[in-house]
Amino acid sequence: MSDNTQSIFTAAKVLIDGPSELVFDYAIPEGIGDVVVGCRVRIPLRNRNSTGTVLEIGTPPQSDFTLRPLHSLIDPEPLITPTLMKLGRWLADYYNAPMEQVMRALLPESVRQDAHSEKTRKVVVLENMPDEEARQKLAKKAPKQNLILTLLEAASGQIALADLGGGSVTASVKSLEKKGYVTMKHEAVRRDPDEDQEFMESFPLKLNPEQDVILKEILNPENTKPFLLHGVTGSGKTEVYLQAVQHQLDLGKSALILIPEISLTPQTVQRFKSRFASLQDQVAVLHSHLSQGERFDEWHRIRKGKARIVIGARSAIFAPLTNLGIIVVDEEHENTYKQETSPRYHGRDIAVLRAHMEKCDIVLGSATPSLESFHNTQTGKYQLLKLTLRADHQTMPIIRVLDMKIEAQKQKGRMAILSDKLRLSMENKLKNGEQIILFLNRRGFARSLQCPPCGHVCECQHCAIPLTYHRTEERLVCHMCGYQSITPRKCPSCGDKAIRLQGFGTEKVEEVIKKVFPQARLARIDADSMRRKNALRDTLAKFKANKIDIIIGTQMIAKGLHFPNVTLVGILNADLGLHVPDFRAGERTFQLITQVAGRAGRGELEGEVVIQTHTPHSPSIQFARHHDFEGYAEQELQFRNQFGYPPFSHVATLGTRSTHERRAEFTLENLHKRLKASVPPQIELGEPMPSPLTKTHGQFRYQLMIKSTSARLLSHHVRAILKQTPPPEDVNIVFDMDALSFF
Ligand code: ADP
Ligand code: ZN
Repeated sequence: MSDNTQSIFTAAKVLIDGPSELVFDYAIPEGIGDVVVGCRVRIPLRNRNSTGTVLEIGTPPQSDFTLRPLHSLIDPEPLITPTLMKLGRWLADYYNAPMEQVMRALLPESVRQDAHSEKTRKVVVLENMPDEEARQKLAKKAPKQNLILTLLEAASGQIALADLGGGSVTASVKSLEKKGYVTMKHEAVRRDPDEDQEFMESFPLKLNPEQDVILKEILNPENTKPFLLHGVTGSGKTEVYLQAVQHQLDLGKSALILIPEISLTPQTVQRFKSRFASLQDQVAVLHSHLSQGERFDEWHRIRKGKARIVIGARSAIFAPLTNLGIIVVDEEHENTYKQETSPRYHGRDIAVLRAHMEKCDIVLGSATPSLESFHNTQTGKYQLLKLTLRADHQTMPIIRVLDMKIEAQKQKGRMAILSDKLRLSMENKLKNGEQIILFLNRRGFARSLQCPPCGHVCECQHCAIPLTYHRTEERLVCHMCGYQSITPRKCPSCGDKAIRLQGFGTEKVEEVIKKVFPQARLARIDADSMRRKNALRDTLAKFKANKIDIIIGTQMIAKGLHFPNVTLVGILNADLGLHVPDFRAGERTFQLITQVAGRAGRGELEGEVVIQTHTPHSPSIQFARHHDFEGYAEQELQFRNQFGYPPFSHVATLGTRSTHERRAEFTLENLHKRLKASVPPQIELGEPMPSPLTKTHGQFRYQLMIKSTSARLLSHHVRAILKQTPPPEDVNIVFDMDALSFF
């Protein structure tokens, strides 16, 4: 801004809190403080008071009425940093989300509230010590007051009122105050979510040669591209993150560490807290289980620069850190980084963008990188770093693949849950006092048709994904393109009549294991059994203490757990995740097998993994068996390229939801017609159809897929049409850019 414009009358463009997405200009009165972009303000709105966020400061358009002035600033300083504001605008544009919803992502609810809720406590401060004579008088007449003075002296002049005895000493303190010996003040106290836990300080390990090379690459200021750290499970990625973070802290900078889900990765949080235990007040942990007050405190500690290390799940990417030195995204391939409500952003992608804006380092790490990120290393957008060996000199576990078709024949066509081989292995391990993890990813609703004798799965000939069985119409439907087929009575491949819908869940497994191993101590870990707060933490602690022999679990146990005594991992039905209507099904299966297998053999004892499958030759299983990520990526990328799927395009879904089925359907058809009428050639439109999850929460769901090589073009085309086509009141529109879920 030149001096010239500064003298011109300026106004604030304010986004009003609330769902209506209102933006109004307000005059800035003198003397209310520094009103800048990102400030929270109180404003008049029609005939009431409201609150909002300053989006812009500038010259308002010429108008003949005078602007109403702002009332006041809620916080003296802007709550949103300029970079985060920029990031927010980008988000709104790319994901086609209202700015008001973006603001809600940027500022947690507890921070947005006008009434501030800092927790304070009363502290007694020693002001003047009475002289000897007065002191002796006090000791005789008011021993309690005298004692308080003695305690204050010993505590170098300050004690919390509560520590002196709270209510019971208030009168004595008041008398002392009257005599001018002490004063009372209010002091802010931090609500520490981990107050009940102690963290032993841990010290940097001496890096092995592979780690050493990688850390040097990360610290080299000439390397400015995002890093993709591909390191096999147990290769010591976390140690590299820790040391890279330490380096930035030494430079006086801050660090942001994203992890998929705090409650599922307690060990990772503990490792960060322990390493930086000497800076404990500088570590903030952000997650969804914080109370409003805890979140408020953590957020303000970050904003004020008191916490320089932030660990958190997806939404922590908006933590108001300044002077960022590094962002780490652990397990960058995880789906939980994608937000499933508007704004539907991908935490990893936003992290890359934020790092670019902040000009800081970024490390994306995984044992099974997403194909999107891996592809970016091939095109030169990212720099690939590799850790190929386990850090503690352990070998990778031996992986055996068992063909359940053969088991089914042995067990006369019945669906076998436990193969002979797995049962024998379990017997052995239990005898030796070693531990076992059984894994079953039970995703019930989208069932596919499979032939147990030959392993054939009915797939769409256009999309190469399994067809989904629709019970009401008794048809098989492709949820990508809408292709339909009749439900065959015999296997189209081998002619066997045993073809059927597949599926069993963890509960069933628990029942079977109880019968087969009545002596073994069992625990089941899934969303049903882990509802209680801290249930997961407690169960894992018991497992670690060897009080549990066998854990049966879903993907909740696939992540970052490190149990040295686990020597056997059984994957009961590797096909479950494979035959879902999603082009990423193979990639997810590869990731899951690799991650789960990585839980075995992490101590002195060698690990063993048994994979039970009906499709032993499927690439995701074979490449995982050979610990060959790059081989898998190469063939999977070929498939993606051939069908024009990501990372060679962007895929979005446009959906309608309504309690009236016809209206959901009709609205989407109408949108489809309009999208089609003016569709640019680079955009490929799918057909509207019911979602695989046709109805949830009483709402019918319809959706169509949109594909394009240009994300911007896609997003803008959809926005233009949505603007012209307001939906009926009882229909919700859901636009999901870079969708990860097609249900
Ligand atoms: P990842 O994050 O790749 O799964 P971790 O960082 O959890 O791997 O490391 C696996 C194990 O190896 C941990 O117990 C860790 O303490 C240990 N470790 C990591 N780096 C080293 C090292 N340089 N020397 C010795 N042990 C190490
Ligand atoms: Zn299809």
